[in-house]
Amino acid sequence: MIDVLIIGAGGAGLTAALEAKKNGVNVTVVSKSYPTRAQTSMAQGGINASLNIEDSIQAHIDDTVKSGVGITDLHAVTKLCHEAPETIQWLNTLGVPFSRNDEGGVAQRRLGGASFNRACYAQDYTGLKLLHTLYDQALHAGITFLNEHFLLNFIVQEGNVVGVTLLDMRTSEVKAVAAKSVIVATGGYSKIFHDFSTNASGSTGDGIAAAIRAGCQLSDIEFVQFHPTALAKSAVLISESARGAGAFLLNSKGERFTNELAPRDQVARAIYEEIEKTGAVYLDMRHLGEDFINRELPQERKLALLYENIDPVSQLVPIKPVAHYTMGGIVVDADAQTAVKGLFAVGECANHKVHGANRLGGNSLLELIVFGKHAGKNAAEFALIDKKIVTTNTQYQKDVAFVRACTHHFTNQIDFYEKHEFLGKIAYRNAGLFRDDMRLKGVLGVVRQIQKELPFMGVKDKLPSYNTNLVEFLEFGNMIEVAEIMLVGAISRTESRGAHFRTDHPLLDDAKFKNHTISWKEEGVLCNDFR
Ligand code: FAD
Repeated sequence: MIDVLIIGAGGAGLTAALEAKKNGVNVTVVSKSYPTRAQTSMAQGGINASLNIEDSIQAHIDDTVKSGVGITDLHAVTKLCHEAPETIQWLNTLGVPFSRNDEGGVAQRRLGGASFNRACYAQDYTGLKLLHTLYDQALHAGITFLNEHFLLNFIVQEGNVVGVTLLDMRTSEVKAVAAKSVIVATGGYSKIFHDFSTNASGSTGDGIAAAIRAGCQLSDIEFVQFHPTALAKSAVLISESARGAGAFLLNSKGERFTNELAPRDQVARAIYEEIEKTGAVYLDMRHLGEDFINRELPQERKLALLYENIDPVSQLVPIKPVAHYTMGGIVVDADAQTAVKGLFAVGECANHKVHGANRLGGNSLLELIVFGKHAGKNAAEFALIDKKIVTTNTQYQKDVAFVRACTHHFTNQIDFYEKHEFLGKIAYRNAGLFRDDMRLKGVLGVVRQIQKELPFMGVKDKLPSYNTNLVEFLEFGNMIEVAEIMLVGAISRTESRGAHFRTDHPLLDDAKFKNHTISWKEEGVLCNDFR
């Protein structure tokens, strides 16, 4: 019997795995791709911690709370910022090759919304180096990996999680796996915006959708952060560290038009409006010099050359803002415990209420490690409690029937790939940086129509082995489920706060909305409230 089963092998899942293992239990990590390919590997800018004497933990707390615009949880933020220095120390000890300052300490740089140089980095490969180090450690610690397995659902009996159903992506076989406790660490849902997103293709909200189906609550799903600087054609991210180092934003007349280091929501909206007005916005890194770019921002140069055929050393880089990070997630308490006993959540799929309405750059990687450790420890302790696990369940039969229906009974008259592309476009324009009631309701209408049409979509590829068509259809279904929740939340929140900007309600309304949007399902019907 598995003690702690972790779904997701990004920074959150691997940290939780190491901590659970340290607490004396057996640990298995499931992921739909290989661990080294989790989205965490794409993080570039850095991980925040107040380490130098000019900075302070209080300043880190203040910046985080300010950026969250009234809906962060001060206890959680305090914990996050207080544990940041020891987190960097821990990662250092594990072997993350942080860039160094002249004194040999961990180098730090400034990201948007931060009042000091606070982001620790490993060139602009911070997430990659962090993830690979964690993975090495996890292998060394004897953690078991079940790769290429796709979470379908949590198995819940009498309010307790007792395992999960998985699709073996190599064979398309559905499996039921029992476990004493489960941690969900499956990342965010920015891929709802299709190509208007910096995210890995797997950021499809699978764990979040499975959690609400299992009886968990979700919160703040309407809050989606748009990153100001993605490459204009490919939406590949150019890290904020470029602006942190002094890069400018220029309009098509070659003029600066905004404070480059204001919080992300403000910069992203300024760029979007400037593109609407003048057709293009550019990132200017030329004055930083080739040596500096090669030393501190090598990946940014490579990405611009590879995807846009532009060399930032001598050319302006065309950029646009796109969906980047999803603040909303599964409701958890201070122990990372969800409403389903024994089911814990951590990382971008969870809402620890440290980002509020707008995440501060560099705080996500920090959250993965700080709360990943807590989740791992608490899940291990839960697994060690003696309890009766009943293994008969109907979830397995339901999921076998559903997968069979997708491949054999759904009629394939409508192409779900086209629908996803269409959804991405209209969500970007109408439920993205600028929202209003009419446009949000228009997108919601499309999403609800797609929900009805799912049985007319389905999977063309009938072969069981490595059926990516099937997996992508399952991901699409999850995105549609989460998109509905995002839109209902955005329609209900008739104010502007952080990343959620309503042109028809442009002001903050603390009297009504200094609250979290809570979503849950009753008999399959979506319910929504503010608490
Ligand atoms: P992920 O790293 O997304 O991992 C999710 C895991 O779950 C994967 O292993 C995936 O395979 C698995 N999974 C998902 N669904 C299923 C399923 N159905 N079945 C089985 N497995 C599943 N943050 C910062 O703090 N600093 C930065 O500099 C920074 N830069 C960024 C740059 C880019 C380009 C992007 C996209 C994000 C950046 N972020 C940054 C944000 C940060 O990287 C992410 O929020 C964070 O890595 C999410 O980690 P995670 O462990 O929660 O999930």
